[in-house]
Amino acid sequence: MTHAPLTIWGVFIAAGAAVAPVVTAGPDSTKAAALTSAIDPAHADWSAVASPSAGRTQTIGAYDAGCLAGAASLPLDGTGYAVVDMGKRRYFGHPRLISFVRELGAKLENANGTTMLVGDMAQPRGGPMSSGHVSHQGGLDVDISYQLERPGLSPAERDLIAKVSVVDPNTDQLLPNLWNDRQVALLRMAASDPRVARVFVAAAVKRDLCRQAGAGIQRRWLHVVHPWPHHEDHLHVRLHCPPDSPTCIEQPPPSADDGCSPITLATALARDRAERLRPPPRPNRHLPAACATVYQAPADDGTPARTAGR
Ligand SMILES: [Zn+2]
Repeated sequence: MTHAPLTIWGVFIAAGAAVAPVVTAGPDSTKAAALTSAIDPAHADWSAVASPSAGRTQTIGAYDAGCLAGAASLPLDGTGYAVVDMGKRRYFGHPRLISFVRELGAKLENANGTTMLVGDMAQPRGGPMSSGHVSHQGGLDVDISYQLERPGLSPAERDLIAKVSVVDPNTDQLLPNLWNDRQVALLRMAASDPRVARVFVAAAVKRDLCRQAGAGIQRRWLHVVHPWPHHEDHLHVRLHCPPDSPTCIEQPPPSADDGCSPITLATALARDRAERLRPPPRPNRHLPAACATVYQAPADDGTPARTAGR
C-alpha cells in the first residue's frame, strides 16, 4: 500500500495556494486586469448553468478570466478514455478540446491498451468554478489522472473516484508502484501535439521526464511541460487559443530553456512542497463584458437560459 494522500478528484488542486502573481506560466496565472468587470460575482453562478449557449463557438478572455460560448460536450465514454466525476458537469469544452481528448484517448489505447481518466474540463458556458480551479474558464483546459490502469469502473465508481498522488510527499520521489512508462508516453503524446500550449505536472514528474528524454530534437516536447504546484495526481493540458476566438488571451510561449537544470528542478520541487500548505486560490471574477451575454444567452436547445436546479 502506498502512503500517498488520497484525494477526491478535483479537490486536491482546490487545497492549493494562491498563485504567485509574478509568474506568468502557470495554469491560473494569465491575468486580465484590463478587462471589464461586467458580471456581479454575487449573481453569476456559472456552475448552475445547465447547458451551453446557442450560437457561434468562441472562447472569450483568459484561461483564468473568461467564458465559453457555443460549447460542445465530451461523450462520457470513448476509445481510450472515460470521464470521471461526472456529477459536476465539467465535461464541456471548445470543440477543439473535445477533439483533442478523443484523439489522445485513441492514440493511448492504440499505443499501450490503456484508458485515461478525464476529469475537469469546463462548465457548460465555462466561467469561474465554485471549487477546484482558478483556470479552466475558457474550455481549453483538461485534467487527466496519472492513473491509467483502472478498467471496468462503474459510472457510480467513476463519479466518486478517489485520486492518488504519484509523489511521495516526504521524499519528493515518484512512487514506483504508481509510476511507469505509460504515463511518460501519455505526457509525450500530449505535449507533442501542436494544439497544446502547455502541460502542467508535478515537479517530481518533470524531473523524471528530464531524465528519460533523449537528446536534441527529442527533447523539444519537454519545453511545453511545466512544473506547477498541485499536480501530483493529475496532468493538466492547456490548448492554444483557437482561430475562431479572436478575443481569447493566449498563454505566453514556453521558455527556450527545457527546464531540466538542477537548479530549476530544485526550485520547482521546493515550490510544490510550500504550496501544499497554503490556502486555496480564489477564482478571478474580472470577466470580459462579453461573458455577461454568454451567461444570459438562450441554451443551445433553444430554451431560455436555465440553471441546474440550485
Ligand atoms: Zn487543471
